Amino acid sequence: MKKIALIGSTGSIGKQTLSVVRKHPDKFKIVSLSAGSNAEEFCAQVKEFMPKVATLSCAIPDSLKAQKGVEFFSGEDAFKSAIIDDADVVVVALVGFKGILAVLDAIEKGKDVALANKESLVVGGSLVMQKAKEKGVKITPIDSEHSAVWQALSFDFNKPFRKIILTCSGGAFRDLTKEQLAKVTAKGALNHPNWNMGAKITVDCATLVNKAFEVIEAKWLYNTSFDKIDVIIHRESIIHSMVEYVDGAVIAQMSYPTMELPIALALSYPERLDIGLKSLNFAELKNLSFESVDKERFPCFDLVLEGAKAGGTYPAVVNGANEVAVRLFLEGKIGYNDIYKAIYGAMQSFDGGHHVEIDHLIEADEFARQYVLDLFGV
Ligand code: MG
Repeated sequence: MKKIALIGSTGSIGKQTLSVVRKHPDKFKIVSLSAGSNAEEFCAQVKEFMPKVATLSCAIPDSLKAQKGVEFFSGEDAFKSAIIDDADVVVVALVGFKGILAVLDAIEKGKDVALANKESLVVGGSLVMQKAKEKGVKITPIDSEHSAVWQALSFDFNKPFRKIILTCSGGAFRDLTKEQLAKVTAKGALNHPNWNMGAKITVDCATLVNKAFEVIEAKWLYNTSFDKIDVIIHRESIIHSMVEYVDGAVIAQMSYPTMELPIALALSYPERLDIGLKSLNFAELKNLSFESVDKERFPCFDLVLEGAKAGGTYPAVVNGANEVAVRLFLEGKIGYNDIYKAIYGAMQSFDGGHHVEIDHLIEADEFARQYVLDLFGV
């Protein structure tokens, strides 16, 4: 029985994690739940899973407080209280910069991490991987591409390879011209062709910021260099990523798209569990297509990687600027092209050092957030 602390339980990955747990109650037990402000969904989860500890960023509703056998915490940093001794693994499914605080806390407490929060590796990959190594903590990927790579490497993070090939659906705006892109809305961005995800990541998919983030994530998880990671547009989202070996053999992981597969695997590997996913019908699939990334129409892709290559705290600036810009875009306050402007401007204006302790990352993140708010006068 694997005991799970779930941080970010009411988001898309959090809910799908609970769905996996529901399907395999003999394998998994939820020992703590942590969420942000979706109190209603959280109440239902607490009543169903009866964790030892439950935490919310906002106030705990009175109706929950009476629940016996559950210890409650609330407040901005309450999620740390959900990373309890009793847990074997911490699923970090928070969205955004805050995820790194949960990851570092889990590592500090010697807990294995099933990682859905990609921002933590984007902003602090070297810090996170170094601390994990020091503490002997395993980090397993909950991201379809990185799970695919991990599977193609037979779950061996140290296996030598020639190349990692990350696939990319292309996002909601993959067929739009530059002129059309200038006018798109949040509603259009949220209409992802293949995956059902949270709002922030769906916009990140539409700008290809998500894919650049995944390149950075792969670099850290698989201890490799940027020149050994390729990205290819694959519209059907059937091949979730590939590994090419020195002899030219390419191993791909295929399935219909669902996050439950990477979630279950991150928690149960090397054992594979039946999650109710149907068999691929190859005759019905007919064509699988591949094309290059159009870096002119989607300039955020290269821009984010530039930030990553600059190293130090620059990735934290890129991420902070992107987080605020995406929020403003979702609120209808800025346009799609402004997301690029925000990241570019923040990077140019930042005079950052190369220390990457958590305090420096927080400082760079705060700088970028304020820069973007000032840039658009909101
Ligand atoms: Mg992904």
